[in-house]
Amino acid sequence: MDTDKWYTRTAQEAIDFWRTDQEDGLSSSEVKSRIAEFGYNELVEKQKPVWWKRFFAQFQDFMVLVLLAATLISAFLGEYADAATILSIVLINAILGFLQEHRAEKSMDALRTMVAPMSHVIRNGILQQIAAREMVPGDIMVLESGDKIAADARLIDVHNMEVDEATLTGESLSVRKVADKQIGETSSLGDRKNMVYAGTSIIKGRGKAVVCATGMATEVGRIADMIQDVKHESTPLELRLESLGRWLVWGCLIICVIVVVTGVLKGEPLFLMCMAGISLAVAAIPEGLPAIVTVALALGVQRMIKRNAIIRKLPAVETLGCTTVICSDKTGTLTQNVMTVQKVFVVGRNYELTGTGYEIKGNFLYNKQEFDPKRDKCLLQCLEIGALCNNSILKHNNIGISGLWRRATTSGWSIEGDPTEGALVIAAAKADIWRSEMEKNQRRLAEIPFESERCRMSVLYEKNNKNVIYVKGAPDVILDMCQHYMNNSIESPLSAAIKNEILEQNENMTDQALRVLAVAYRQITKMEASHVSEDLEKDLVFVGLIGMIDPPRQEVKPAIALCRQAGIKTIMITGDHRNTAVAIAKELQMFKEEKNQALTGNELDELNDGELAKIINSVTVYARVSPTHKLRIVKALKRQGHIVAMTGDGVNDAPAIKEADIGIAMGFTGTDVTKEAAAMVLADDNFATIVAAVEEGRGIYDNIRKFIRYLLSCNLGEVLTMFIATLAGLPLPLLPVQILWVNLVTDGLPAMALGVDPNNHDIMNRPPRQPRESVFSRGLSLKIITRGFQIGISTVLVFAGVYFLKNDLTLARTMAFCTLVFCQMFHVFDCRSETFSIFEIGMFKNKYLIFATVCSVFMQLLVVYHPFMREIFATIPLGLSDWLVVLCISGWTFIIGAIKHLFFRRRVPRSVLGRVH
Ligand code: ATP
Repeated sequence: MDTDKWYTRTAQEAIDFWRTDQEDGLSSSEVKSRIAEFGYNELVEKQKPVWWKRFFAQFQDFMVLVLLAATLISAFLGEYADAATILSIVLINAILGFLQEHRAEKSMDALRTMVAPMSHVIRNGILQQIAAREMVPGDIMVLESGDKIAADARLIDVHNMEVDEATLTGESLSVRKVADKQIGETSSLGDRKNMVYAGTSIIKGRGKAVVCATGMATEVGRIADMIQDVKHESTPLELRLESLGRWLVWGCLIICVIVVVTGVLKGEPLFLMCMAGISLAVAAIPEGLPAIVTVALALGVQRMIKRNAIIRKLPAVETLGCTTVICSDKTGTLTQNVMTVQKVFVVGRNYELTGTGYEIKGNFLYNKQEFDPKRDKCLLQCLEIGALCNNSILKHNNIGISGLWRRATTSGWSIEGDPTEGALVIAAAKADIWRSEMEKNQRRLAEIPFESERCRMSVLYEKNNKNVIYVKGAPDVILDMCQHYMNNSIESPLSAAIKNEILEQNENMTDQALRVLAVAYRQITKMEASHVSEDLEKDLVFVGLIGMIDPPRQEVKPAIALCRQAGIKTIMITGDHRNTAVAIAKELQMFKEEKNQALTGNELDELNDGELAKIINSVTVYARVSPTHKLRIVKALKRQGHIVAMTGDGVNDAPAIKEADIGIAMGFTGTDVTKEAAAMVLADDNFATIVAAVEEGRGIYDNIRKFIRYLLSCNLGEVLTMFIATLAGLPLPLLPVQILWVNLVTDGLPAMALGVDPNNHDIMNRPPRQPRESVFSRGLSLKIITRGFQIGISTVLVFAGVYFLKNDLTLARTMAFCTLVFCQMFHVFDCRSETFSIFEIGMFKNKYLIFATVCSVFMQLLVVYHPFMREIFATIPLGLSDWLVVLCISGWTFIIGAIKHLFFRRRVPRSVLGRVH
């Protein structure tokens, strides 16, 4: 048999060939042996450069090459100690740079595994979710709309399935699939309608297929460079900093040339001045800035992962901090998505159900009295339709149930599938109704799947040689398709009065925050049954309404309050009924009758763009909307200047998610297609996670500002020290190796530690940042310049003072050297907040910074006191009074801050301290 051309064979032939079973799939032991035989279902990755190549890449930087040349010249001139020192400093810098890049790379790798695709297969008779890489030939894949297909497979069973194969064929129109046809041998890929291929996605419908090729044997495997992964996309800030870096390089070089020329004119030796110039250029140019920005972004992304937000596109991290509106789905994101049926209405009677969650523990109540559901045929039929028009599976201790377990055990129950349908299965089980039992004398022929736009789902059954369609969905939609209703056991015409009664009951239930589904049915002819389409969903018989509660997630209310405090608006966008949505929104305090509006999809359609723009800022609830409405809402909000974060789960949400500034997909319920379009994936589908990510996004940006402030003011200080001293006709205040040393102890560890600084308390107390604002805005440039001057002038003062008073150049240089280092050690703590002093935000909150500072101070002491280091760095040991001068001059702002804090204590507001991170 030609094992390549499964489209020319029947599904059964493929099943037989791969020795599998359509219902039970493969066994675990068979899967193991097939993984050993066929390997994992993955495409061979391009080789990454080995670590030593990446290490040597560090030496390709222009300034490093200049330094290496300087090392060679020093060695050539016999200055071996200088040469060795410069070389070691260059090496240590390279190691630090390598580690920074390595760390960033590791974080990106972690991201790749977090967004690794998953697939549904049947194994050992159980439907389960597995990592797509573990799929083997012979696996029975279960496919749903929105799934990205993980392997090439022959379809066994399809319901209305359409697949987007553009990635393989370039054809933008989706392809309708069939299972029961064989296709000619010479047909092209796009015509093989009984196959699905890895890398393509299901746009509509559902189905089952037997895997025939995995990994490099798939069609996509043949085009090896189609490997999709998370790439490092430069963020706008990184790009801006890169261009800033280029300007700084030129600025520094010009100043260095001035320093060198002036020094030489003043009579300093040419070689010493050249070395000083090069060292100064190396120290002053913030060459590590882009790397630290990447590390800060990557580490921030790691922190977000810990808080369940997985970033797929790095620029989103920056945009998150600017978010002004979060548009969130209701079900599962604002609410728990644990549905429990609480009310059932059949015309003339209202029932209540007790119990919560997925435990089959609860009773039916009629007029507050316990009621045996078997006594009401209409109620039973309502529950039966709910259970039959349903794809969720009831599980007990993770094992699928086929009606054997009854009320004997009630704990350990769970649902696989849609929670709305799960609630219906549980409600039916409470009345001892089981789908598997019913399916003993009726057989499912077809399904018209649920799609958000349709707001309904139907199944076709054959019972006693008769066909019937069962429908469930949004009451407003279903009622319009009904001509009759179940009146006890009789089908009666649906009069306007009865319809009004039903609608009134629907309103009542939705007002109580219940999600309501209507169930209906119709006997159909054999002829009709042979053409399954939406046309069958007409002339239905209304049976009842089922109302289920889906409580808000506990953590969402405080998260919404936090958003309000942070100037971020929260909007609910849901497919549910307006009343249900408003009731939940009120509970979450995001909807106030006098201030806010709720708009339905239909109302939205009636507004033109101008009218929508007028009211958009007061709308906080959009109900009964379809994914196309979502796109319009995002566009309208963006036109108002908002930075929009938008959630989505279904395949049709992808355009809105792409259009949003930050598209957010659901980790659990989201389809692969949505996840691929999204910038961020919520591992727990939780709204609070979005808020946490916004907070982290703000934190990352803050940290980038912190170390930019630190690095640039310190570098400016270093340049000014040399510049002012040279202009003032003083001898060289620092030797070249000393300058390089300052660069090493201050720019390395402390700057990196600032990159992981914990978020400031006030982070969610300020309005969102303007996306276009400069990184130096809000007074940062002034802070950098004043502090740079302060550092430069302090160092020169110490140098000149000691030089003239004690007439000792080595002592003056050692003290200037220490002043410059300690100025920066004190300054690094100031950089932790732009509004609060270090005493207000807590001295020891950043343990990495404490460690980095201790290391730097220790290294500086080593240079001053260790005889070997003294030799190299031309220093002399300092006495207590010398240190007093150094510390007072370098730390005076710090000392004033401490005094101010002691006497004029300013408290960080309670509201911002009380938050849990
Ligand atoms: P969101 O997640 O956007 O808040 P939602 O889950 O409330 O939305 P949809 O999933 O789009 O909204 O569902 C829209 C409507 O379709 C629901 O209000 C409900 O009436 C109906 N519905 C939901 N799930 C099903 C289903 N499985 N079968 C039939 N009808 C359904």
